[in-house]
Amino acid sequence: MNPYERLLLQNKAWSEEKLQIDKDFFNRLAHQQKPKFLWIGCSDSRVPANEITGTDPGEVFVHRNIANMVVHTDLNLLSVLQYAVEVLKVEHIIVCGHYGCGGIEAALSSKSYGLINKWLRNIKEVYKMYQEEVDAIGDHTEKVNRLVELNVMEQCQDLIKTSIVQKAWKHRQAPEIHGWAYGLNNGLVKELTTIKPDYSAIHPIFRYNPDDL
Ligand SMILES: [Zn+2]
Repeated sequence: MNPYERLLLQNKAWSEEKLQIDKDFFNRLAHQQKPKFLWIGCSDSRVPANEITGTDPGEVFVHRNIANMVVHTDLNLLSVLQYAVEVLKVEHIIVCGHYGCGGIEAALSSKSYGLINKWLRNIKEVYKMYQEEVDAIGDHTEKVNRLVELNVMEQCQDLIKTSIVQKAWKHRQAPEIHGWAYGLNNGLVKELTTIKPDYSAIHPIFRYNPDDL
């Protein structure tokens, strides 16, 4: 059997299993989605949002890219963010990185990877902000893992710099922002930061005048 055919077969089995447990499962989902969570995670195949959080289809709106970045010129991320916050009205945004992230490791090296250099550049900027702390760590794996954590926390800051989040904070005192790091070796999430809707969490230069939002 061609490997991709296995996926189609498994899909049939999964669909039948869901219907056996709940015959309205797909009918209900086909009519509307009302997820409470937006997930911004790494594209890494080992960190599937629904599976590691034990959530069903319909519960998590998902955006994934290399090293779970919130890049303020990324129209894809910004479109997902706007739709999730303004239309779906999610209550929580989770930025989930993972230890041993290949994107973070690549950004720490001097190797040129072609087009992806432009993406990794954003991570190099985070490293530069915390260079002293990261360089003080001797072990390479530990160094990568600390940058994973710092990067997640920085992406959370990048979220609250957006007018999308600030506008939602003003009008409905949500969403909360969560920074997590997932362990590939134990399957567990470590909570790094939680940012509640509060203007004082935003660096003053990135705060928009509330009357303009
Ligand atoms: Zn990764």
